[in-house]
Amino acid sequence: DRINLVEFMEKILPSFRDRAHTRQQHLSIAIADDIPDFLSETFSLERVIAELFNNACKYTPPDESIQFKAWLEQPSEFLPPNSDRVVSNRPKLWMEVKNTGIEISKSELERIFDKFYRIPSADPWKQGGTGLGLALVKKLSERLGGKIQVNSGSTFVAFTVVLPIQTENG
Ligand code: ATP
Repeated sequence: DRINLVEFMEKILPSFRDRAHTRQQHLSIAIADDIPDFLSETFSLERVIAELFNNACKYTPPDESIQFKAWLEQPSEFLPPNSDRVVSNRPKLWMEVKNTGIEISKSELERIFDKFYRIPSADPWKQGGTGLGLALVKKLSERLGGKIQVNSGSTFVAFTVVLPIQTENG
């Protein structure tokens, strides 16, 4: 399907806006304006983004923030000298869902994509869960040809999905 990221986000955001508002979380969205329409699988992309927002709403304490950012990385024009590597010349779409007020320790970062793993103490709203969400996000990101990374510091958790994208003319 042909995807325009702004329109796509406008469709999935309203329910998360309401949810964040109810929990007094500050939601902000920044989408770079040079992202072209691209071809992808709407269903998988939507599951990935929705699941990350779902978690952000679930684990962010009140008065903290949830930020979505998307930007484009242009392919480098030159191969490294003497390189026999084949490099992808597709632009990459980076999408980050970051939430503040919480830290995931290093040892736990290694496990959160495992099926059924949940961090025992990290559920401020006591909602429970299956521990399957992130395992699915990882599978779907790979199915879309990309990957997912997570990073955390003392006051934030950030999930980043990187997808090589195909535009209609190339
Ligand atoms: P479900 O998939 O049923 O919602 P879940 O949220 O527990 O359950 P995952 O989405 O796989 O399962 O997440 C695994 C664990 O990673 C969570 O239990 C939580 O401890 C931690 N986690 C995930 N996302 C965040 C986040 N944005 N901030 C802090 N912790 C998170």
